[in-house]
Amino acid sequence: MIVTRQITEIRAQRWREPRLTWGLVPTMGALHQGHISLIRQAQDENDRTAVSIFVNPIQFNNPHDLKTYPVSLEKDLEILTKEKIDLLWIPAANDIYTGQFQTFVTVEQISKSLEGKSRPGHFKGVATIVAILFNVFQPDRAYFGEKDAQQLRVIRQMVDDMKYNLKIISCPTVREQDGLAVSSRNRNLSKSARKQAGCLFQALSAAHRAILDGERRAVRLKRFMKDSLHAYPLVKIDYISVADEQSLQEIGVIKNRTLLSLAVMIGKVRLIDNLMVDLKDI
Ligand code: AMP
Repeated sequence: MIVTRQITEIRAQRWREPRLTWGLVPTMGALHQGHISLIRQAQDENDRTAVSIFVNPIQFNNPHDLKTYPVSLEKDLEILTKEKIDLLWIPAANDIYTGQFQTFVTVEQISKSLEGKSRPGHFKGVATIVAILFNVFQPDRAYFGEKDAQQLRVIRQMVDDMKYNLKIISCPTVREQDGLAVSSRNRNLSKSARKQAGCLFQALSAAHRAILDGERRAVRLKRFMKDSLHAYPLVKIDYISVADEQSLQEIGVIKNRTLLSLAVMIGKVRLIDNLMVDLKDI
């Protein structure tokens, strides 16, 4: 595994054997099974696999969140060595955001709802860093988790709009036994908070069961999710959403592809989760 901070080195490695295909897995480190599943899929589908680790400061609207974001570089190196990836890029923040930096990417409409509403500027930060990673690396494929459904939607839109010559590959959410989506932030959960953190998946599952039983009205589905969360005293709801998969706007009655999503605070930790429902599969 080659490990580098240098953009010039990344470009040199990427183009050393131009006929080989490269998969890129962008991460913020503190690696876990979710990241590993993306890496393994990239390895299955490409000649070479690269991972980037960069805690992107401009996507954090809350300084406390940035300060407490878990970092575990040594452990990450161990994991990536074991996974036998080819290239690890750990950009330095001041190589990415140089003193003169003033160019940002904004994906307009779909960045405004859900996470975008709760975390103003978040997707501008995400789209900007992902554009920079793509511009430097020029991967054939880039891998993103369905766990961050809106992020995936925003990046796909950016790739379409900006005509990036690469494929975005989405990977299913990896979960703990109680349904909690694996996440770097889970490390910040206290013992008692962790015990209640299966509640997001429980709530999504309650809505899903209702859909299987024939419910199609969004208000009713939201009510099921809300009632399910009320069983957990540490949980504070940020939002519960039933949205059109494309526009990410709230809908009244669910249709073909609908995104059920929610964000909650459990103690001091903010967690998100979602479930994509396709009525064609039901
Ligand atoms: P992060 O390091 O949190 O920015 O995540 C890097 C990538 O891993 C993103 O594309 C996430 O959507 C994806 N990811 C995070 N958690 C999971 C998970 N539990 N299952 C699948 N992918 C995930």
